[in-house]
Amino acid sequence: MTTTTCCPTAHTDTQFVQDFMEKATTRNPHEPEFLQAVHEVVSSLEGVMEKRPQYVSGNILQRIVEPERVLQFRVPWVDDAGEVHVNRGYRIEFNSAIGPYKGGLRFHPTVNLSILKFLGFEQVFKNSLTTLPMGGGKGGADFNPKGRSDGEVMRFCQSFMAELYRHIGPDTDVPAGDIGVGGREIGYMFGQYKKITNTFAGVLTGRGLEWGGSLIRPEATGYGCVYFASEMLATRGETLEGKTCLVSGSVNVAQYTVEKINDLGGKVVTLSDSGGWIYDGDGIDEGKLAWVMDLKNNRRGRISEYADQFPSAEFHSRDDSLSHNPLWAVNADCAFPSATQNEINEMDASNMLRNGVYVVSEGANMPSTADAQDAFVNAGILYGPAKAANAGGVAVSGLEMAQASQRLFWTREEVDAKLQQIMKSIHSQCVHASAEFGCQGNYVDGANIAGFIKVADAMMAQGIV
Ligand code: NDP
Repeated sequence: MTTTTCCPTAHTDTQFVQDFMEKATTRNPHEPEFLQAVHEVVSSLEGVMEKRPQYVSGNILQRIVEPERVLQFRVPWVDDAGEVHVNRGYRIEFNSAIGPYKGGLRFHPTVNLSILKFLGFEQVFKNSLTTLPMGGGKGGADFNPKGRSDGEVMRFCQSFMAELYRHIGPDTDVPAGDIGVGGREIGYMFGQYKKITNTFAGVLTGRGLEWGGSLIRPEATGYGCVYFASEMLATRGETLEGKTCLVSGSVNVAQYTVEKINDLGGKVVTLSDSGGWIYDGDGIDEGKLAWVMDLKNNRRGRISEYADQFPSAEFHSRDDSLSHNPLWAVNADCAFPSATQNEINEMDASNMLRNGVYVVSEGANMPSTADAQDAFVNAGILYGPAKAANAGGVAVSGLEMAQASQRLFWTREEVDAKLQQIMKSIHSQCVHASAEFGCQGNYVDGANIAGFIKVADAMMAQGIV
C-alpha cells in the first residue's frame, strides 16, 4: 500500500487500487459497469484502510465486493397474440450486514448481470448512508415493457414473481421499483406474491396507498435529490431560487425533481427520453409538468410530443453518431441527471463546466462516467454523487417498511419532514467523513467512506459469514 490516502481532487490510481482492481477484474470479467462502481468506491478507501488495519486483516474489501447471493431464473410468458416469450430474471442479494436486502427491480432490455451487480453494490453504501437498517440488493429482467399491453405486463410480472417469491420476505429481501417498474408493476407483483404465499406482507415497497404504501414514496428520489442540491448550495450561502436547471429523463425521478425545483424557485429547461430531448427556454412550469406526467404515466407517450404541444419548446432527436449529448451543453447553473447510467461522458462534463454548471446532483445511478466524475471533482464544483444524492427513494422505502410493520400511516408532511432530515444527515455524513479523511469538499470520497464504515463495522462484528 502506498501512502496516498484521500484528497479534495480526483485520484490517480495508486498501487493499492491497481492491485485490488487487477484481482477484481480477473474475478469479474465482462462486467464493466460493476468494475466501474467498485473502482469508484475502492479509490476512496485507501486512507480508511490505513487508519483502521482491522479491515485489512478482516479482508473486508474482498468480502464486500462479493455478493452474498446471485439468483438468475427463467421468466416465460405469453403475449396477447398467444406467442411464448422467455426473459431472464435476476436478484442480487448483495449485503445483509445492516438489514434485509433492499433495492429496486429494473425491467429494461439492457439489463444484465454487470448492471445489476453495479446497482446492488452501490445500494449497499447508499442504504447505509440513509441511517436506516437496510442491506443492499438489486434485481430485474431484460424485459421491455415499452409497447406492451397491461395484460402482457401483468402476465410477465406474475411469471417473474412466481419464482422470486421464494427468495424474498419482509425480514429477508424487500424489492422496490426502478427503471420500467412503477406502481403498475409493483401492484401486479404484489398481487401474485399474496396469492402464492397467502400473506399480506410488507414484501415490496412502492405499493399503492390503499394497500400498504407510503405517502411521498413516488416523489422521494426526485425530492431528495433536490434537497441534497439545496444542502450543497447552502454551504456557499446559496439557494435554488432563480437557478436554471438541466434535467434528463422524464418519468419517475425526473418528474419529481422538476416539481421540487419549481417549488424552490428554480427553472427547468430540459427533459429527455431514449428518443431524444426537449429544450424549453420558458421553463417547464407546473402546468407543463402535469401534461408530461399524463403523457408518460398514463398515455405512455414520447417526450417528442412535448414540442408539438408547447410552441416554446424544441425537440432534438437522439443522435448516436455524436460523441456527446447536446442536452448537457445547454447553459445552466445546475444539472440533475435522472435517466440512466453513464449518460454524462467526459465531453459532456467539460461542456457543462464551460457553460456554467456548478451544481450536479445525481438522481440516476452512476450517470457520470469515471472521467466525467473526475472532471467535476477536479473543478471543485458542488458534485453530489448518486449514492448520496438519490438515496431519498430508498429512505422513504425504509419509512414505508417501518409504517407497514407498525400498521401506521404517516401524513405527507410527516414523511416529507423525515425525508428532508435524512437528506440533511446524508449531506453532513459526507461532509464529516471527507473532512476526517483529508478530502474536504469531495462528496464522492465522503459518501463512499461514510457508507463503507458502517457496513464494514457490522461485518466485523458478525464474524466471518
Ligand atoms: P423510469 O423508468 O421511471 O424513467 C427512466 C427514464 O430514463 C425514462 O425517461 C427513460 O426513457 C430514460 N432512459 C432509460 N434508459 C435510457 C437510455 N439508455 N437512454 C436514454 N434514456 C433512457 O425510471 P426511474 O425514474 O425510476 O429511474 C431513473 C434513474 O434513477 C435510474 O438510474 C434509476 O436506477 C435511478 N433511481 C431510481 C429510483 C426510484 O426511486 N425510482 C431510486 C434511486 C435511483 P425511455 O422511457 O425512452 O426509456
